[in-house]
Amino acid sequence: MLYSELAEQFDALEHTSSRLEMTAMLSHFFTTVPPENLRIIVYLCQGKLHPDFYGVELGMSDKLVLKAISSTSGTPLKETEKMWTLMGDPGAVAEQLIGKKKQMTLFSEPLTLERMVKNLLAIESADGRDSQTKKTKLLAQLLHDSSPIEARYLCRIVTGRMRVGAGSMTILDALADAFANREDRPEIERGFNITCDLGLVAETLAEKGLEGVKEMKITIGNPIKVMLAERLPSITQVVEKMGGRCAMEYKYDGIRVQAHIGKDGVKLYSRRLEDLTSNFPDIADALRKQCKAEEAIIEGECVAIDGKTGEMLPFQSVTHRRKKHGMENAIKEFPVKIFMFDIIYSDGIDVSLYPYPERRSRLGETFDLGGQVDMTTMRIIDSPEEGEEFFNEALAAKCEGIMAKSLYQDSVYRAGSRGFLWIKYKKDYEAALTDSFDLAVVGAFFGMGKRAGKYGALLMAAYDDETGRFGTVCKLGTGFDDAFLASMPELLDKYLSEERPSSVDAKMIPGVWFDPTVVLEVVAAEISISPIHTAAEGMFNSDAGLGLRFPRFTGRVRDDKGPEQCTTVHEICEMYELQEKKDSRLGE
Ligand code: ATP
Repeated sequence: MLYSELAEQFDALEHTSSRLEMTAMLSHFFTTVPPENLRIIVYLCQGKLHPDFYGVELGMSDKLVLKAISSTSGTPLKETEKMWTLMGDPGAVAEQLIGKKKQMTLFSEPLTLERMVKNLLAIESADGRDSQTKKTKLLAQLLHDSSPIEARYLCRIVTGRMRVGAGSMTILDALADAFANREDRPEIERGFNITCDLGLVAETLAEKGLEGVKEMKITIGNPIKVMLAERLPSITQVVEKMGGRCAMEYKYDGIRVQAHIGKDGVKLYSRRLEDLTSNFPDIADALRKQCKAEEAIIEGECVAIDGKTGEMLPFQSVTHRRKKHGMENAIKEFPVKIFMFDIIYSDGIDVSLYPYPERRSRLGETFDLGGQVDMTTMRIIDSPEEGEEFFNEALAAKCEGIMAKSLYQDSVYRAGSRGFLWIKYKKDYEAALTDSFDLAVVGAFFGMGKRAGKYGALLMAAYDDETGRFGTVCKLGTGFDDAFLASMPELLDKYLSEERPSSVDAKMIPGVWFDPTVVLEVVAAEISISPIHTAAEGMFNSDAGLGLRFPRFTGRVRDDKGPEQCTTVHEICEMYELQEKKDSRLGE
């Protein structure tokens, strides 16, 4: 297959903002490509060569890509750099310069998808002393045989800036339309939720049909999409919603990990599917030693502990374990414990299908507890008063609140879903009207006065998991300290976009746009109807969306979350409704 067919598809996708159109295009395309290529095509649609959890990145620095563009197009490096600074998009620079070159020479052979992927894999695995030269050469070979459009997407892929707006949900819809029916969409999504591998789901569907997807199973090494909690504004409502009786666990403030304990070793994944094993090697070892099953998948929260007193420390302390270097010291300096709260799989059994009480017992039976491996503190609660008491104990133990868990027969582990089987209640809810929000940065405004010439405020958006689009909710200019202000270009400029990204809906026009990638935690005084924001547009008011009043950055960059794991528009609507109820109750 020629790579040009794929590049043309990317171009068409990038130029539509209608999700329906995008789905139709993709589903048609999926049926026309050779089935053996479908897996890699699905990864490439998201700018990757592997599923997210694979953990290896192409790793080409901007400098190397610039060099490859410069040498292939015969443009001096300085000039190429200048264009890049002006255009902010390596793809656009490559497209323009390769275009010019093509008018002059005709010595190139058509680029097949196979050759393109082969070179990209070689770029990914190149290491050693002359790895940089090797990588530049491999990319230059591809650029030499690329058309301008092909060059555009090649350079975006190798620099991690590919975003044609085809989110996972759109791809799943397209796969259902291409190889099954829309009614089968839940089964197909289940396949994705238990493997986190869209390419594998696509390949299975194309080769074995829907039956093949139905037979997909939880396996060690393929992370499972995490189950998430709903929120309610009071303990009384939590207990009522649970039917008067529930389990409550401490809500620990650490880093969530999903541990895949295999016969030969352990892998730890973050909720955004990054491999965290090298950040918590001590936890991985302890889990293997203390696990009585040959194989198990469990979830828990890794929390930093005061080495002397054994007390739990705030979230910031455990983030020292997320560094790339100096882990040996970090292990000594920042001792960590894992508080396990769920078990999903054990020795061939899909435990996720068991109700919560059975999973909880099995979790306890599967481990020798002690040292760094513990279970979350849990109590069965029969009244709001008992719930309040437990909540206060949780706060005294330095936790951020409680997680209530349903005890009913249907309380299975719902991979990838946020529902009322789990309800969180945090101490912040008492002070503020709302929970914190994890929002994607989609634009920046240049500052004035002290912030002149630098980013002064950010345009923040929530994710609509039904449409796969981002709607803005606030302009964020408070809560940034000098260090964060200074670090903003480094954090964000990689994701600069020449124009409004096709997945973003916005009425406000920032100074620069970003592809939604970086996620920040934001608190606000309240949610209000806003004519200038686009999240939930038309839901509560025909001409307005929902916006955040007095938003403030908490200082926490949610690098454990990707843009699709942001607070969703649906959640913001729910929070708005809760807030309105609470307001009217306060007014009574
Ligand atoms: P938050 O920002 O409040 O952590 P979130 O969006 O990351 O929320 P939620 O589903 O809203 O995720 O809250 C659940 C999170 O709380 C889990 O992802 C996990 O990291 C953490 N957690 C702490 N203690 C527990 C527990 N006992 N059971 C389940 N999750 C827990």
